[in-house]
Amino acid sequence: MNASLVTDPARPTVGVLALQGDVREHVAALQRCGADPVLVRRPAELAAVDALVLPGGESTAISKLLEVFELLEPLRARLRDGMPAYGSCAGMILLASEVLDTRPDARHLSGIDMTVRRNAFGRQVDSFETDLDFAGLDDGPVRAVFIRAPWVERVGDGVQVLATVPSGPSAGRVVAVRQGHVLATSFHPEVTGDLRVHRMFVGMVRAAVAEVG
Ligand code: GLN
Repeated sequence: MNASLVTDPARPTVGVLALQGDVREHVAALQRCGADPVLVRRPAELAAVDALVLPGGESTAISKLLEVFELLEPLRARLRDGMPAYGSCAGMILLASEVLDTRPDARHLSGIDMTVRRNAFGRQVDSFETDLDFAGLDDGPVRAVFIRAPWVERVGDGVQVLATVPSGPSAGRVVAVRQGHVLATSFHPEVTGDLRVHRMFVGMVRAAVAEVG
């Protein structure tokens, strides 16, 4: 049975891809937003969730593990079918339709029509924090923590740019996007205690569950 048919839209089941990366931080943030987070490592677990978070970590390692755990094709299929997803940092890289500066054997999921450059800020500085305006979040800027982060170099039609770097050598670089039910950020809202990005995503999931149900 499709889990989304039996889900209470107020408390959707949101999987966190638990192959590598900062899984616990996303689980905690989702819990605090009123979702029901579950770990996803197997195809049967993926089949049972309403939505999926792809955490930060190392995109080439997660890519390899997606193949080893036989999740790559099932995940592509669920994204094609409209499953909501949110990727932070390495998760953004995995959701791209094209990735620059990665390993030739790295796989991606084409959840968003975008070209992402991996480790893009690295030539200037590995990790940094800044405050940025995030479209749709009204209560002031979001503290964005970038850790060997990617940026988005191209977006296709239908992709909404939600945030860019406000100043400095990377000013104007695109660091948050949305296409349909799929959201991605270059940075890690799960580490700051500011729940607004996760709340936005859980709101997208609730809307998607209500549409189906
Ligand atoms: N640089 C990492 C990668 O290529 C992403 C870093 C992160 O998720 N914090 O996957």
